[in-house]
Amino acid sequence: MRSSEAQLLLNINRIDKFIRTSEIPPEKKIMELTGKINDNTYDAYTDGSRINNETGFAICIFKNNEPYKDFLYKLNPTNSVFQAELAAIGFAAGWALEHNKQVNIHTDNQSSIEAIKSAEPKSEFVNSIKETIYSSRLLVSLTWVKAHAGNPGNERQAKLATTIGQYRDLPSPYSYVKFKIKPFIIHEWENYWNQLNSSSIIRVGTLMDKVGKKFLIVNKYLIYFLSGHGPFPAYLHRFHLLNFPSCSCGQVGDADHYLFNCTLTKEFHLKKPAEQNKKLWIKNLMHNKIAINKLMKSYANSNNICDSLKTLGCPCALP
Ligand SMILES: [Zn+2]
Repeated sequence: MRSSEAQLLLNINRIDKFIRTSEIPPEKKIMELTGKINDNTYDAYTDGSRINNETGFAICIFKNNEPYKDFLYKLNPTNSVFQAELAAIGFAAGWALEHNKQVNIHTDNQSSIEAIKSAEPKSEFVNSIKETIYSSRLLVSLTWVKAHAGNPGNERQAKLATTIGQYRDLPSPYSYVKFKIKPFIIHEWENYWNQLNSSSIIRVGTLMDKVGKKFLIVNKYLIYFLSGHGPFPAYLHRFHLLNFPSCSCGQVGDADHYLFNCTLTKEFHLKKPAEQNKKLWIKNLMHNKIAINKLMKSYANSNNICDSLKTLGCPCALP
């Protein structure tokens, strides 16, 4: 994308990358998580949180069932709660490794466990967490606890982490880029749209309120109708491809003519909507296969009519 805003948004170094999963050794790809270790002295309750666009995570470590240490981290506003949950698990596993302690890690986030166990994730970040779990596999277990049932203070700490946690830099997930880019593109599109003043834009403006995803039309016949640019004598005449703007039937041959009026395309006509109903009508038309089919046939006919008008001796017709 060209604009500086888009460049900022798409700073490639700030986005989580996809890695080739074929290069990950099978034992790290599909992991069997260790069940709860019974003779351990440490438990780590992990939790991620996202409130008001702020993301953070907390790890509450218990020693012999007594609170031992809490760690609170604040992430970038672009990070997801899923990343926060995983980062918390990764931190707990890293802590076990660093201190060479056996730790039962508890999470209330089933998706994190699934992601760690699954061979699917391509995210570099998710795979880095899997790597830490793999390295600490002889020391840690990872089990799911029902939300609020584990350590009641844990959730509160995770919420607190979103504001006062120590800053930790994680790349933005791909989903965030998608989330941000979509409205950005629509906004840019809208600006572009509002600045244009051509006859086709004015025509489309009478049929649709604003730009939007639904406006990504792939059917060329529908585009012919919306823009008025297509195999119509009136349109070809504007570009000196036909001598006259009229249809063989004698009337002006434009997009509306063939769909609503022309005697030569009668069997494919649609009922012309009243001016005030046009926008609703076009909305319905897009999902009406029978109507679209008629529109296509009607314009296939107008195309033939244009061809016959050209061969009838228009001196300026293209070969
Ligand atoms: Zn006609």
